[in-house]
Amino acid sequence: MTLKVKFSDLLRATLSFRTGNESWIGFSPDGNSYHIVSPVDTQISKGVMACNRPKDGTPFGGYIRWLYFRIPPFGTSTHDDEIVRKEHAKMISEGLIRDLRRFGIEAEIDENGASSADLSLEKQAGAFKQDLVCSGCSRKWNRLADSLRDPLLIFVAYRACIDDFSKGVYVFEHNCLGHLHISASSFVRRRPFAKSLAGFQGCPGFCYYEHSFQECRANCEGSCYRRIAVKLHRRSDITKDLRLM
Ligand SMILES: [Zn+2]
Repeated sequence: MTLKVKFSDLLRATLSFRTGNESWIGFSPDGNSYHIVSPVDTQISKGVMACNRPKDGTPFGGYIRWLYFRIPPFGTSTHDDEIVRKEHAKMISEGLIRDLRRFGIEAEIDENGASSADLSLEKQAGAFKQDLVCSGCSRKWNRLADSLRDPLLIFVAYRACIDDFSKGVYVFEHNCLGHLHISASSFVRRRPFAKSLAGFQGCPGFCYYEHSFQECRANCEGSCYRRIAVKLHRRSDITKDLRLM
């Protein structure tokens, strides 16, 4: 069976050098499926290339025994636009097919396929069903407002999905140390014409770090999702103080 790798997936994973991040693509041992891991901090990535892999799989959210290839960033300090990105992604895809063959995996690039969802992010989300359930103690919250009012939940991370901000996740920690994931789409209504600047010039790159709660002034679709994260963060600071009292 020949595995079809969507060009749109590779293009999406081709990040600008400026972001300080890059992507990896992983292939299942049977060669039947793949997933993109993006973004990966360049410094972490360098550690991986130096074979400093921890024993529990890859350090950037990959799967054990899968085969990972690096998707190097594109651009120099002066240029990064969509054309350069495309050319770079094309070059990478050709090299990838050759590399895979060396590992006995037959693959081809599917030029037209629409981009598949980012598996790693989807897995993290677990929030797609929007069941408000704690991963630790299985406590349920019936309504979003109830969970936001619960002083035993502390907001700990915002995992932005830079390809589709509505698929991002706000992560809360319960007092049992379990987590509650709330989909970003529960707070913000999707704007069909909004544009994402992620990975381009003008993007301060906050969305690449889940513990970054800084407000973003870029004229980007992601800014309003980030604003929610800032608010949630401020609120849980208050909750934390209350808990200490
Ligand atoms: Zn819990």
